[in-house]
Order: sequence, then C-alpha cells, then structure tokens
Amino acid sequence: MDTAAIAALRNRPVPAGAHVIDGARRGASDGAVLDVVSPIDGRVLTTIPKGTAEDAGAAVAAARRAFDDGRWSGLAPAARKAVLLRWADLIRAHADELAVLGVRDNGTEITMAYKAEPLSAEATIRYYAEAIDKLSGEVAPTAPGTLGLVHREPAGVVAAIVPWNFPLMIGAWKIGPALAAGCTMVVKPAETASLTLLRLAELALEAGLPAGVLNVVTGEGPVVGAALAASMQVDVLAFTGSGATGRKLLEAAARSNLKRVYLELGGKSPNIVFADAPDLDEAARVSAAGIFRNSGQVCIAGSRLLVERGIHDAFVAKLATAAAAMQVGDPLDPATQAGAVNSEPQLARVLAFVDEARAAGRRIVTGGQRILAETGGTYMAPTIVAGVAQDDRIVREEVFGPVLTVQAFDTEDEAVALANGTDYGLAAAVWTASLSRAHRMVGRIRAGVVHVNTYGGSDLTVPLGGVGQSGNGSDKSLHAFDKYLNLKTAWIKL
Ligand code: NAD
Repeated sequence: MDTAAIAALRNRPVPAGAHVIDGARRGASDGAVLDVVSPIDGRVLTTIPKGTAEDAGAAVAAARRAFDDGRWSGLAPAARKAVLLRWADLIRAHADELAVLGVRDNGTEITMAYKAEPLSAEATIRYYAEAIDKLSGEVAPTAPGTLGLVHREPAGVVAAIVPWNFPLMIGAWKIGPALAAGCTMVVKPAETASLTLLRLAELALEAGLPAGVLNVVTGEGPVVGAALAASMQVDVLAFTGSGATGRKLLEAAARSNLKRVYLELGGKSPNIVFADAPDLDEAARVSAAGIFRNSGQVCIAGSRLLVERGIHDAFVAKLATAAAAMQVGDPLDPATQAGAVNSEPQLARVLAFVDEARAAGRRIVTGGQRILAETGGTYMAPTIVAGVAQDDRIVREEVFGPVLTVQAFDTEDEAVALANGTDYGLAAAVWTASLSRAHRMVGRIRAGVVHVNTYGGSDLTVPLGGVGQSGNGSDKSLHAFDKYLNLKTAWIKL
C-alpha cells in the first residue's frame, strides 16, 4: 500500500458511474441516478445509475447472447485463463485506486480494505484462472461394453447480487469461479458500494474479456436485483446479504425458471473462550479484531462471546480495554483500526439494537454510542453488551455493526447449547489448549467454519459457506466451481 498515493487519491473527483452492459458504459434507461454518499463525511461523492428492470433485462440479454454464441465458453480453458490472468495483473496495478475508491464509497478502514478488496480480488481471479485448465471430467467405472463419461459444462448465465461490506472480495468469490468455468454474468452491487465493481468490469474489458461476458448493473435491490431473480434467462443466482432478501430470491426462483440459488446470509457467530485457552491476552486481542474490524460489518464477525465463568470478569475486562483502545475514525488514515459504518440507515439500525438492550437493563460495558458526528460521517464506538439472555434480539439477530454480546457458561455442553442456539450457522471459534476438546467442539458446533485458537484469516484454499439460516453452497476453494458447472453424462454402448 502506497500511503502517498492514498493521500493523493482521497480527494480526487469521482466521475459519475455507469452500468457496464455488453462492453459499453450506459446510464439507466430512464436517465435516473442515485447519489453516492460517502460514510466518511456524509458528502455526495458522485452518482450511479438508478437501474431499471429494463437495464437488468438488457444485461441479462447481453450475457445470454455471450454465453450462447460461445465467445467465452467456447474458448480453450487455457485461453480463458490467459485473459483472467491479465485481468488479475490489471487489478494489482490499480490496487491503490480501487482501495481508496472503495473506502470512500463504503467506509472500511484502508488497511483492511487494501488487503481484503483489490488484493483479495486479484488473488481470487488468479486462483480460479490457474485452476480451470487443471479440472478434468471423469470416466465412470462401468461394466465392459459401456463407457460412462462425466463432463463438466458451464451452467450458463449467472447473476450475482453482492452486499456493501466487501464488494470486491465477495464479488470476486462469485465472479472468479463463474467466469473461469465459462459462464457469463450480470453482477448487481449494493446501492451503497457499487463504484469498485463498476471499475473492475472496465478493467476486465481492458484485459480482453469479450463484451457481454461480465455485465454490471447498479440500482436498487427491489428493482434491479428482483428483475435478475425473476429472469427466465438466468441459470444460477449467487447472493450474499440478508436472510430477508435471500427468502425473496428463493421465492422468485420458484415463481420463474427454478434457477439454482446460492445464499450466503451472514451469521451470529459464537466465539467461545475456555479457561484453558493458551494465551488469554492473545485471545482478547484477536477477539476484539474479530468483531470490531470494519466496524463489525463482516459476515463471519465473532459477535457473540461465550466465556467460561471462572475467567468471565477478567476476560471481559481485557476485551473492554482492547475495544476502548481501538482507533475508530477516518478510514483513509492508515492508523485507523475501524472505519465508518456503511450508511446512516445502517448506523440507526445498529444503535436501535443497543438501545433495546439498554432499555432491557443489559450492561453496556463499553461504547454504545455514535461518535465523531461532527465529521458528518457514520462512526460508532466499539460496543460490548454483557448480562444478555439467549432470547434477546441482540443475541439472536445479526446486528452487522461493532457490537459484541457476552454470555457466561459453566460446562462444555452449555457452551455448545448456547453456540448452537440461534438460527444461524456460519462461523465460530473455540479457544482451548486441549486438543481433544478442540476437535470435539469442531464436531459439535453447527457452522460452516470453526476456528481454533484464532478468529478469521482463512484463505482461498478452504470453502466458506453456512448451514441453517446462514445459507447454502460455498464460496472460495475448488468447491466453488460446483455452483457454476453442470455435470453431464455421456452413456456410450461400445
Ligand atoms: P440486503 O440483503 O438488503 O442487500 C444485499 C444485496 O441485495 C444488495 O445488493 C441489495 O441491493 C440486494 N437486494 C435488496 N433487496 C433485494 C430484493 N428484493 N431483490 C433482490 N436483491 C435485493 O442487505 P442490506 O440491506 O445491505 O443489509 C441488511 C442486513 O443484511 C445487514 O444488517 C446484515 O445483517 C446483512 N448483511 C449480511 C452480509 C453478509 O456478508 N452476509 C452483508 C451485508 C448485509
């Protein structure tokens, strides 16, 4: 990260955004725009098209044509790889620009955003590009006289609907395997974080991706997202965001063409600290980062701390110290550890959870309020709420802000019951020096990923997906290809 470049980029005017459809920049069909408000200071940064259902339809039609005429899927895998690797190089070359643009749009602190956005997107595109010419079909073990071939074919047109917390990273987790597999795409970024995905699509064209293979349409979820979900021409819908939207997407698929729908719906992830944790100071430091980085706007954020009763008070004190010491504020300052909450409505939603807990007599150990309001930005102090009950809304629902709840437990069984006591199942962590307990807990916790003696930080080589109401299907790893490839059998009598 070049800190001088970041300083130079922070006030650079941002031209009005445009959809990328069929290889060209376009406004909305009716010319309408949405203001892009920066959470850094509440000022309007630029505009993006307020897309219409017609725009979504044009993008799907472009993706359909590009798929059906084989301009992408018909290339040799090694040729697709070459284009995607050129794109990865361009993303790397524009990493400072993409990182700053994204931070001005969504408020993530730059130290996290730089790695988690352009660098992660680059690595993801590269990973799937390099994999695509190493995947083979199968010859089934059939009886003599028959030959069973199992081909893997691209699934067709993929629509990806992406949230605002990590648009490039989460976008690339879907775009990388889908394009490498030979699919074509329409991507719908979130209203409050569209700018970097638009830029990414322009860089793809520069890298030689044929027109129509990757289209990006901005606008409101209930208009553009809903049109994609209802489309008869979309074969696969890949989504990250809220459960409420996920339900609508499943309904729309059922009402239209039964497209496959993959959902990543966030979590209410338990972070379980046993008294025999190898290093409680390290556990406190990593746990604070695991909930407060990006102001808690991380799908796997460790938002529920479960602590063995004997160390409860001491551990919560350590965490409170770590939380209060975190530098919150200007996300473009490299010293900042937690940037802005994404938008005014999101900040209001997060504060409402805390107010409800306060009104119910729960103990606000630290934080609990908006800060730096004089900047015009949307900032919130890292917040710890203790003395909560399992039925509290703040314990059961995804807050998606810098808010940690704390509960005490006495036994391993009780820890498991609390951990599994929500509708979600995305991530978890267990801190213990006992190898046996660690493995037992990995087996007993209902989640897509269980960290042991750490929180977060897993790389592309392993899948990320939820169980229960955290969703289905996995992003990352070679398993992600399964979502974007169909199996086809050729059964041949010899
Ligand atoms: P959301 O589900 O409303 O938005 C996510 C994406 O879906 C956006 O691109 C949005 O435009 C689109 N969308 C919204 N309504 C749609 C519809 N009817 N049809 C099709 N697409 C639609 O989520 P949000 O409003 O951005 O955030 C609300 C909550 O969702 C957060 O507070 C958090 O709990 C959760 N969330 C989770 C993640 C995650 O990584 N799992 C990310 C963002 C938000």
